[in-house]
Amino acid sequence: MENNIKITGLVLNTKDYKENDKIATLFTLERGKLSSVFRGVKKPAAKMKMAAQPFCFGEYILIERSNNYITANCTLTESFYDLAYDVERFFAGCVVLEIIDAATQEGQQNERLFVESLKALKELTYGNTNPNIIAVKFIINTLELIGYKMSFTKCSSCQASVSKPFFTAIRGGLLCPLCKDIDAQPVNLTLINNLKFIDNSDYEKLSTIKIEQSASIKLIHFIAQAFCELVGCALKSINNIA
Ligand SMILES: [Zn+2]
Repeated sequence: MENNIKITGLVLNTKDYKENDKIATLFTLERGKLSSVFRGVKKPAAKMKMAAQPFCFGEYILIERSNNYITANCTLTESFYDLAYDVERFFAGCVVLEIIDAATQEGQQNERLFVESLKALKELTYGNTNPNIIAVKFIINTLELIGYKMSFTKCSSCQASVSKPFFTAIRGGLLCPLCKDIDAQPVNLTLINNLKFIDNSDYEKLSTIKIEQSASIKLIHFIAQAFCELVGCALKSINNIA
């Protein structure tokens, strides 16, 4: 049984396959995450060479054969690959792609996460906000979309305002000194306040945040760590941000 489908998708990553082929992981609007073979794209003059790269976004025609996909054609709508010209934006973009991969299961559609991903990549490519802050925003929103809403405003247990904050990802984030458990880590109040601001602001407003580069690096590592604990994964791309 062979079936042609048209999907809107974003390439998350690729790996080599056979001598001249690649298998790409695509995050698609219509079918969630899937793997598709790109034939011959390792040859220098291959037509779909560009379409088989991380950050490419477009309309893909796939041939479906008993749960396997082969890419027949692609029309690029946008290549966020432009962000490769700025190394900090590129590294933050790699974190976004890896977060999408870790947060999704093959074949599970998630329209809201799809829209969120495009928003974050657009801001990274065309905006002027600190790229680490955009990635932090994306991670917070992704956690919410997969069922882990984090609290940065009030104690996630007793709802009290917190001046001496503790944090446990698995219990929903912020905890007060009375509710903290043995695993809770004391955290810096400024870090929590920055997370609160990012959580409560749209992407467009994030450029107004006043934050040192070193503090933005701490923030992204902090929230990525929480993500890894909750999802049960490791993120290779976070090591580029230092
Ligand atoms: Zn409490």
